[in-house]
Amino acid sequence: MKINIPESSQERVVIVGGGFAGLSVARQLAKSNYQVVLLDKNNHHQFQPLFYQVAMAGLEPSSIAFPFRKLFRRHKNVFFRVTEVQTIEPENKRVITKLGECNYDHLIIAIGADTNYYGNEEVAQNALPMKSVGEALYLRNTILSDYEKALSVTGYDERQGYVDIVIVGGGPTGVELAGALAEMKKYILPKDYPELDTAEMDIHLIQGAPQLLAGMSDDSSNKALAYLQEMGVQVKLDTRVNRYDGEFAYLSDGDKIRSNKVIWAAGITGNHIPGLPEESITYGRRLAVDRFNRVQGAENIYALGDIAYMEEEAFPKGHPQVAQVAIQQGQTLADNLKRSLKQQDWKQFSYNDKGSMATVGRNRAVVDLPSFSFQGFPAWAVWLLVHLFAILGTKNKVFVFLNWVWNYLTYDQSLRLIIRAKGKRE
Ligand SMILES: Cc1cc2nc3c(=O)[nH]c(=O)nc-3n(C[C@H](O)[C@H](O)[C@H](O)COP(=O)(O)OP(=O)(O)OC[C@H]3O[C@@H](n4cnc5c(N)ncnc54)[C@H](O)[C@@H]3O)c2cc1C
Repeated sequence: MKINIPESSQERVVIVGGGFAGLSVARQLAKSNYQVVLLDKNNHHQFQPLFYQVAMAGLEPSSIAFPFRKLFRRHKNVFFRVTEVQTIEPENKRVITKLGECNYDHLIIAIGADTNYYGNEEVAQNALPMKSVGEALYLRNTILSDYEKALSVTGYDERQGYVDIVIVGGGPTGVELAGALAEMKKYILPKDYPELDTAEMDIHLIQGAPQLLAGMSDDSSNKALAYLQEMGVQVKLDTRVNRYDGEFAYLSDGDKIRSNKVIWAAGITGNHIPGLPEESITYGRRLAVDRFNRVQGAENIYALGDIAYMEEEAFPKGHPQVAQVAIQQGQTLADNLKRSLKQQDWKQFSYNDKGSMATVGRNRAVVDLPSFSFQGFPAWAVWLLVHLFAILGTKNKVFVFLNWVWNYLTYDQSLRLIIRAKGKRE
């Protein structure tokens, strides 16, 4: 069965994945002479950097997601389908999806990455990931439900299981989550749960490397550690979680922590669609590409963003898996595809690193620019502005801004509702 998309005289570019990379290329090509087919298993783009605020009940999911149909409704050459691509058939120049097959002239793979449990089945089974809006919401429900359950538990040890939280991974996600939980514990839980003793609630951050925010400057790493410690987070460096059975997390230093919630933010691995040459799959299950984002050993197939592994002089071990790389690669590839239509030569991709940042909490953030670093309130203000401008949609920007102002003034977050989806069909 064929996916129902009209054939046209234009060359067809099929983009799999509408994250930062896929969306960046699709938006550029929407104004071109290509037919663009965007396939994503969700009907919306997700703004991953703010997942942790959804998990902490600080933002509603609708504020950080944007429907693809709304983005492209004015572009007649763009077709969108909600479907999962299951196989790629380079020899037939088509992809097989849950809706049927779809032929292409150019195929762009922008499927991003998923949580990496490093082969530990027990951890994969019991820990909580945060790689989609759905998972962030599940995390929110679990945290709030556990506080509710803790109210009826009389035994100290059992109650610890409900109120203590372990976060594994001291990258930006782990640090931001730990900071947000510490603020929730300080400002919100005493008001919402006066019967619970917040002194009993421990937030543990376990980091395998000797410092937090490993990709950032020493100043930023050290400051983030100091901030978290000030806020009461128990940070362990140079320590791994080897096992988690749903009740206890077993650490590499021999310690064990009782907690019903281990949040796993310790790494990512490339999503996989079968069909590409084996030699193209490389470190972190990413797809090896050249400086034009062409997948090694394949013709007219490109990979972008988190799933792409490209080496350049300044990045001999590949680019960091961050939004800016994905966006810039999308722009360069779109530009190159447009150059093809004008019989012009392609330009190599080169990453323009604008810096990195992480927030720990109110007035506490760290920013590394290419030439200098800064922390504290100015860094926090910059973090807020950069994220506000990056969110898609004016309504979303306004909602997020108002939410943040409200939270800042009232020391409170939006309503902490436990809402579980229920229905008869998937
Ligand atoms: C919690 C969290 C916080 C982060 N914070 C930051 C930050 O502060 N700053 C920063 O720069 N980066 C941050 N990142 C990283 C950043 O979000 C990624 O680098 C970026 O999203 C990569 O973009 P991408 O387009 O390659 O992939 P993604 O954005 O992951 O998009 C992949 C898309 O592909 C779709 N898809 C996957 N498989 C299929 C399939 N088989 N068929 C159809 N569709 C498919 C998915 O539905 C998704 O829409 C964060 C990531 C996470 C998880």
